[in-house]
Amino acid sequence: MTDKPRRPTLSLKNPPPPKPVPEPVVAPVAAPKPFAFSPRPSRAPKREAPAPVVYGWRCKPCGTGFNVPTDLAEDESVRCPACNARLGLLKDFQGDEPNLAKVRARKI
Ligand SMILES: [Zn+2]
Repeated sequence: MTDKPRRPTLSLKNPPPPKPVPEPVVAPVAAPKPFAFSPRPSRAPKREAPAPVVYGWRCKPCGTGFNVPTDLAEDESVRCPACNARLGLLKDFQGDEPNLAKVRARKI
């Protein structure tokens, strides 16, 4: 049996007094705003700008948009670029008031 010298237990004889807890700096809390119920903002369309190609007409048979070709004679038939349907005579497409009764296309 050997008596090892015991290490003195480190003890805090004079524990520092507990630090005074500083008053928590309370940021001035803004009064809670009354929940302002605002109607949903109107849905702004966030889509990109539509395709740059703007068609003036839409083929009735197939619904494809197209533009009236300008290199046709007045009495030539305008054909749909997609389905090749004869949509009417160029002269019926032209003018301030296209002859909608004769053309198989709708003005867009
Ligand atoms: Zn068509």
